[in-house]
Amino acid sequence: MKFDTLAIHAGRSVDPASGAVTTPIHPSTTYERDPDGGFSRGYDYARSNNPTRESFEHCLAALEGGAGSVAFASGMAATTAVIEAVALAPQARPVVVMPADMYFGNLGLVRNTDFASRLQFHGVDMTDLDTLDTLCRDERPSLVWAETPSNPRLTVTDLRAIAEIAHRWGARMVVDNTWASPALQRPLSFGADGVMHAVTKYIGGHSDMMAGGVVWGQDDGMLARLRAQQSYKGAVPSPFDCWLALRGVQSLKVRMEAHWRSAQVLAERLDAHRAVVRVHYPGLPSDPGHGIAARQMDGFGGMLSFVVRGGREAAFTVANSLSLIIRATSLGGAHSLIEHRASIEGEDSRAPQGLLRLSVGLEDVEDLWADLEAALDEA
Ligand SMILES: *Cc1c(COP(=O)(O)O)cnc(C)c1O
Repeated sequence: MKFDTLAIHAGRSVDPASGAVTTPIHPSTTYERDPDGGFSRGYDYARSNNPTRESFEHCLAALEGGAGSVAFASGMAATTAVIEAVALAPQARPVVVMPADMYFGNLGLVRNTDFASRLQFHGVDMTDLDTLDTLCRDERPSLVWAETPSNPRLTVTDLRAIAEIAHRWGARMVVDNTWASPALQRPLSFGADGVMHAVTKYIGGHSDMMAGGVVWGQDDGMLARLRAQQSYKGAVPSPFDCWLALRGVQSLKVRMEAHWRSAQVLAERLDAHRAVVRVHYPGLPSDPGHGIAARQMDGFGGMLSFVVRGGREAAFTVANSLSLIIRATSLGGAHSLIEHRASIEGEDSRAPQGLLRLSVGLEDVEDLWADLEAALDEA
């Protein structure tokens, strides 16, 4: 089946007990045992498994074309589980290579938690394939992490090339596919071993739930390790959040199409505006990532960032002059959101002071442009 069909049907069926068309939420924490103590219906205790979560996991795996998936309470819990299962497994080298430009939470994870002492972390420019190759040859990481387009500069990296380098030196390659979503990019098809999602963003799609997920391409033992992380460390999503994910994912393809069509229009208009120094959006032919994105993605995504002439002060003036677009972090929902990334990230931020990040929502694009244009005129 094709993507749109899978988004609606994978992992779900009409409920045999009631005939319900939409998947029921199963809040029960515990399940009746068989007379012999077994649980032949597949469920014993909600942390180990529950039907709503299982439906979502089947769906996410189908959308990414993987062998299976494991859901977590948040994107960060999913990333943590990947690092634990891949780089901190017995016999694994605790060496992790990640992009220098990536989701800021990951930097906090490797710097501000026990991972700082348990892991050797390398942040690299993943558009520089020769440097990546040399680093992997010398350091022999067990995990190479990619994120494309990246946060907040929309850097596009070549997933096939990175997977080849990772595999040449014995590493697993996992991609944070949150920003593109499986509707626009499927990393397993380019050779990645696994995919991580902040389901909180486009898959949930309405800024009202939090969950994460890891999809693994092959059933090579890693899924079992990830399941052990899920069940024993216990960072599981609630049945209600899994249900919201199942509800949101049904419209993922049409939403992504609308997000990126509007983002393309806004990027082009911002690029032509005198108050804007630079637009980061892979849909612009002038963007350094355009060629790879055109090959690797089925659309350029709903995220863009732009640098306002006049630096931090001008960027704040623009953000504060908007009346429709809301000043808030996060992305992937129906509401358009803007943020001054450097101040959100704090003193470790590498984001330019004039940079604003925009999550283009599902509002009418002309209303969004009128809001942006008026705010830019203020600056
Ligand atoms: C939000 C986000 C995360 C973290 O997800 P949470 O659900 O907030 O824990 C990871 N990666 C990217 C690219 C994100 O945008």
